[in-house]
Parts: sequence; structure tokens; C-alpha cells
Amino acid sequence: MENANLLAIAKEFGSPVYVYDSSTIVSQYERLTNAFKQVKHVKLNYAVKALSNLAILKLMNSLGAGLDTVSIQEVKLGLLAGVAPNNIIFTPNGVSLAEIEKVSEMGVQINIDNLSILEQFGTKHPDVPVCIRINPHVMAGGNSNISVGHIDSKFGISIHQIPHILRIVENTGMNINGIHMHTGSDILDIDVFLYASEILFETAKNFKNLDFIDFGSGFKVPYKEGDIETNIEEFGQKLTKRFNDFCKEYGKELILGFEPGKFLVSEAGYFLAEVNVVKQTTSTVFAGIDSGFNHLIRPMLYNSYHGIINISNPKGRERFYSVVGYICETDTFATNRRISEITEGDIIAFKNAGAYCFSMASNYNSRFRPAEVLWHNNEAHLIRKRETFEDLTKNQVDVDIFTKVTEPAS
Ligand SMILES: *Cc1c(COP(=O)(O)O)cnc(C)c1O
Repeated sequence: MENANLLAIAKEFGSPVYVYDSSTIVSQYERLTNAFKQVKHVKLNYAVKALSNLAILKLMNSLGAGLDTVSIQEVKLGLLAGVAPNNIIFTPNGVSLAEIEKVSEMGVQINIDNLSILEQFGTKHPDVPVCIRINPHVMAGGNSNISVGHIDSKFGISIHQIPHILRIVENTGMNINGIHMHTGSDILDIDVFLYASEILFETAKNFKNLDFIDFGSGFKVPYKEGDIETNIEEFGQKLTKRFNDFCKEYGKELILGFEPGKFLVSEAGYFLAEVNVVKQTTSTVFAGIDSGFNHLIRPMLYNSYHGIINISNPKGRERFYSVVGYICETDTFATNRRISEITEGDIIAFKNAGAYCFSMASNYNSRFRPAEVLWHNNEAHLIRKRETFEDLTKNQVDVDIFTKVTEPAS
């Protein structure tokens, strides 16, 4: 997208506003599909939690993607967007048996990640095919906050517990139709991923009725210059060979599954905000914007880097800024960042704002969540209205139980 398009959107729909470029999502989807075109059956299930607007889910559906969901509400959003239930996989963590049963009744593929639920679900519904989430104990990422493969992770059933899984499967007579892993959100090293895949293949051999093997996600996209990016093409080549060999050995053409979130939507997103105040202190120039971590929490929560450009003055002289929000806490998007000179009223754009940005937004400080706009075929489509004051109060119950303390009569 051009700066002029973004500026026009900020003008038309106001700020702050999220903007998603559909062509980036489409090209990322095609890149991933192309990397695995030598595999007979490939299934990409988009991870809804990254960005869950119905228009985005419809776009994914039109591309042929399924959905990876983590709550019954995400499942319902997918159904509302027109996605067929058998195109949805439910991969929750720490969710009740009752919720899993409800989702299963909708015709959605269930993925179970702990022995307790596996045993309970298998006992009650031995005929429902179930996928098992394995923890291969491989840390694919450098950041231990988002690498979930380690030994004490709350995700997945440990490969060391395979004998226990097998005993439950045998005792209940349940049908395991898929094996799954998701080792985290930071695959830096293809070889580490391939190593985890070998563990998954070994595990798969224990189950005779598999339809698919799901390799989860964790594909890395660049957030700043010099960032490591997963080489999808090389990865595709290497895993394709191993997968096809495994299928021969297994005696069946299995489906190869992935659940990318960030890879598909991160780079498609821009978050636009207006600079309210430029404030100088003894050591710093702050640019205070009409937003805060209530709208984009990743810098505060994960120390994530988001590129920032001043789209009102892209060619200006660069200066150093700390970009801060209006929340009454240390609310910092970036410190000491080189940005083209900022004047109050300028619109700045945060890059990589497609994944885990709007979907993590809140009403903290009683602010409205922003509008969302989809840029498709050179046209801006409003896909979510900005909230209004009514949204803040609509679920609050007005109680009339207090009496005003009055001054004692003298
Ligand atoms: C969040 C999640 C994903 C998506 O991860 P990305 O890093 O956004 O690609 C995939 N699978 C599961 C089970 C998840 O919880």
C-alpha cells in the first residue's frame, strides 16, 4: 500500500485505525502453498487468534484455508464467516470437557492436549475421531516466552507419555485420526523444526488410522531490518521430501497440515495513529499518540519491535523519538527510534500490525477499540466500526443501592 492510501484511510475513517492489505495475505498464502506443492494433500488452517475479523476469515475461506481455533467463540466466528465445520480444527489448552464436547457436536475436528481430557472424552465418545497434540520438547525459538516446546510447557502431551496415550486409546477404543505439534512462535532454524518433525513421524507410527499430521506453526516474518525470516521455500523442499517418504513408509497419503497465523497476516497490517503532542524533556523527545497499549500491546507485553513511519512526512529529516501512548502507565511503543521529523497532527503507521494486535486490544482507560479497514482491489472497506460510548456501558448493570452520606445536623 502507498502512504497516500493510508493517509486517505485515516482521513476517511478517523484515527486510530487498523488497515489490512488483502493482497499481502493472498501472496503469503500462495507462498506457503507453493512451497509444498509436491505434497499431494496439504491443509493450511489459519490461526484465528492472530486476527479474527469476519472479513479476514471470509478471505481465508475464499483462498481455501481452514481455520485453527482455540475457543468455542472462535469456532462460532468461523461458522458465521461461512467456513464448513469439517474445515475447522479446535486446538484449545486448559478448556473444559463440556466446551470440547460442544465444539465436537458442531462437526469440528477436536485436538486434545492432555491425558485427563483424552481419557474422559475417549470414554464418553469413542467413535469421534480425535487428534492428539504432542509436545516433542524441542525449543524452536530463542525467546523462552513464546517457545512452547520445553519440558515444563503447559502445551501438548509429552512424547515421554506415549505409552500412557496408547493405553488410553486401547482401553477406550477411541480413534486417533491426527497427530499435531506446535512448538512455538519462533522457528529460527529449519533444522530444529525438521528435528521435531522426526519425533512427530516416530509418534505417528503408533497410530494406524491417521488421516493427517499437523505441524503447527511458528513461521517467522521480519519485523525489522536484519530479522531472520523462515526460508519457506527451503523448508518446503526439505519437509516435503521427508513427508512423502514417511507416507510411503506409513502406507497412506496423509494430509500435511499447518496452522499459520503471523505468517499470513502480520505484514498485511498497519496501525495508524495521530500524534497529539510532541514533548521534550531534558533527554528525550516524546511523540504522544492518540492510542496506547490498549490498542497494540505487543511492545509492552513482549518487548516486540514494530517499525514506525511518519506517513505525513515520510521524506523529512530523521530525528530520535520515544513514541508513547495516552494510557496512564509507562505506555511505550518505541524508545529512541529514528523517525522522519514529527509535527503534532501527523499520522504515523506501525508496521506488522496484522497479527496479535487488534485481537489483543482492550478498553483499558475506558477507550474505544479502533475501527478496522480492509484494503482490497484498491478500495477501502470498513470491516469494523470504531466503538462508541454505548459499547463501554452496554453490559454494565445500573444499581441504585447507595444513599448519599449527608452531613450530620448541627
Ligand atoms: C497461536 C497458534 C498458532 C499460530 O501461531 P503463529 O506464530 O501466529 O503462526 C498455531 N497453532 C496453535 C495451536 C496456536 O495456538
